[in-house]
Amino acid sequence: MWNSQLKEWGNSSLLKQQNRLSIDHLLQLREVYGNLRFERKEIFGGLPYNPSWIRFRYLKKGTVRTLGLTEFKTTTIALHSDIFDYSNPLVLKGLFHHELLHLVLGKDVGHNRLFKRIEEDWEEYPEYFRERGKFVRAIEETARKNGKMFRYECPNCMKVLLRTRKMKPESACSECCNKLNAGVWTDSYVLVNIDNGGESLDSLHDQ
Ligand SMILES: [Zn+2]
Ligand SMILES: [Zn+2]
Repeated sequence: MWNSQLKEWGNSSLLKQQNRLSIDHLLQLREVYGNLRFERKEIFGGLPYNPSWIRFRYLKKGTVRTLGLTEFKTTTIALHSDIFDYSNPLVLKGLFHHELLHLVLGKDVGHNRLFKRIEEDWEEYPEYFRERGKFVRAIEETARKNGKMFRYECPNCMKVLLRTRKMKPESACSECCNKLNAGVWTDSYVLVNIDNGGESLDSLHDQ
């Protein structure tokens, strides 16, 4: 069943358009799934042997803020495409672990205390948490270099803000407006885009 599904996914150009995973990446997830089922028997042990009951896809290319998501209606897990080739495979494992927990615990649980307790109870969690932080910084840095993130600087307090979307022109530093201008906008604190020598960018593909 798994193999025929792989073939189907690999061959259909329509499915490719829907961001279906490459066969290599599916196999990677299949292996991680097997390990998680074994290593966290108390949570995942009762799940089917094959992950073919889950649909997988990539998040939209260039996504910066989101690393993974679960769609309950369609039993779909979407993952950031850069995770698969990241140097430390624990990031992929931990993310899959997180999304799989969502599927097992259900939509209503969300990220509540129970969810967090179970997630953090995983023995690899502390290391995963650290490695995920490194991964996030790496993709943010790449996104910034590719012009998908925007850096703004307040001319007054010199604080730098990172945004995945271009801010409205004339956006001002809220901290300075609040502190120094009774919460009222003033052009003295209008943020300056500091990417590309201060020119503003128009191409933003994130989301
Ligand atoms: Zn989540
Ligand atoms: Zn400021």
